[in-house]
Amino acid sequence: MTDRIRKAGRHTSQSEGLIFEKSVPDKRGMELPPLDVPAVDARQALGAAYLRDTLEGFPEVSEVEVMRHYTRLSTWNYAIDLGMYPLGSCTMKYNPRVNEYVARLDGIATEHPYQPVELSQGCLRILDTLQNCLVEVTGMDACTLQPASGAHGELTGLLLIRAYLENQGNPRKKVLIPDSAHGTNPATAAIAGYAVENIRSDANGQIDVARLREIVNEDVAGLMVTNPSTVGVFEQHIAEIAQILHAKGALLYMDGANMNALAGIARPGDFGVDVMHLNLHKTYSTPHGGGGPGAGPVVVKKLLEPFLPVPVIAHQSDGRLTLDFNRPKTLGRMRAFYGNFGVLVRALAYALAYGPGIRQASEDAVLNANYIRKHLEDLFDLPYKFPSMHEVVFSDARQKKNGVSTTDIAKRLIDYGFHPYTTAFPLIVHGALMIEPTESESREECDLFIHAMRSIAEEAATNPELVKTAPHTTRVGRLDEVGAARKPILRWTPKATTEAAD
Ligand SMILES: *Cc1c(COP(=O)(O)O)cnc(C)c1O
Repeated sequence: MTDRIRKAGRHTSQSEGLIFEKSVPDKRGMELPPLDVPAVDARQALGAAYLRDTLEGFPEVSEVEVMRHYTRLSTWNYAIDLGMYPLGSCTMKYNPRVNEYVARLDGIATEHPYQPVELSQGCLRILDTLQNCLVEVTGMDACTLQPASGAHGELTGLLLIRAYLENQGNPRKKVLIPDSAHGTNPATAAIAGYAVENIRSDANGQIDVARLREIVNEDVAGLMVTNPSTVGVFEQHIAEIAQILHAKGALLYMDGANMNALAGIARPGDFGVDVMHLNLHKTYSTPHGGGGPGAGPVVVKKLLEPFLPVPVIAHQSDGRLTLDFNRPKTLGRMRAFYGNFGVLVRALAYALAYGPGIRQASEDAVLNANYIRKHLEDLFDLPYKFPSMHEVVFSDARQKKNGVSTTDIAKRLIDYGFHPYTTAFPLIVHGALMIEPTESESREECDLFIHAMRSIAEEAATNPELVKTAPHTTRVGRLDEVGAARKPILRWTPKATTEAAD
């Protein structure tokens, strides 16, 4: 196993093994000066229970070996600090360092969530200001910052719809979801206790409004729409869609994870949305990925405000802020404390840095996606010709003729120094290449990406094997993804044990 991995790369950094394998008996990372105080017998001082006689397989390495080991490993990672991360739907924009600085300030990083409100006025002000910013940008009326992710925001939003309808006497039975929705949407509706009914998209990737009009009835609690949708197009009939739902007492939920195309340009509250979530770890540039903390705040229209999770930040008559737990119609808590505070601080730093200038971020995101589209559409199939918003979705239909799939192209992109785009999503596009450059990328960086994609298209036509066997420059090539998921090796075991087990 280790031999196979070792062979994969020739460069020293790529051949890096496990730190345990570097171990040489009695090698040390440091040396203490001779003792100039009386020695203490730790066994006596602490009790034998605290002492280990042996530490099986503990790596014995020098300081520089430790440094090099971890530094080499760090070069295996791809990061937004290294290059473009065009994962469609994920909005992998750059996280400005100033946001990190602000989140680490004393009095922000060191506060405790159980501090009494009299001592948390600054933190509450941060949360209150962020809520106001999000309400303003979305054109809604009220906000909760509790949800920890986009999917968690969706669940909060649907539970709000359920609470509102229940309060009216009937929670209703189903939620409508277009086939262009993000995969989390149907999962959320099911967890909120609703049956999911699919609505097909028309040839432009838009909700079929005539069909919607037919199926909205008193059983429908609401519609969940991702706007712009996962094919990167804006729902042209969104205001009419809202009217159709409202006429039957149903509500409109908008998955706002793609707000990076709209912020500062269009406000969902103005086109009929009743409740939506935002992904701060996308649109508001907070760190993203690896399962770390995110934030999926939910903003609502007035009619849903009484049902928001507790506590709600409230203004006292003396101008101070407090936490209001006394909300009889609340759906309860969605999370401990007030949400992922550190993430919320970063988002506020970003929101305040841009102010109304957030509009230019959205415009540049849309411009970059369309720039890439224009320079690739002669080589890659474009299933939906409708204008692109912040992302562009191609298909591998042309390359497929030579047996090259979207996955192959994505793997080859790694050899050109880019993180792959999103493959095989959204599901309504067969063999999708979903590309979202975000506004962070300069024209020069977009050109590099375009050049790489054009070169790969050329390779797919003239030397398909090269693409189908990519990547060629990484430490390991194509992994057995099923094996990795089904039989993960999660722990290193000392050699003697491994050999015995083999
Ligand atoms: C990212 C995304 C989600 C899910 O957000 P998480 O924070 O990963 O839970 C939902 N909908 C859309 C459209 C997204 O792009």
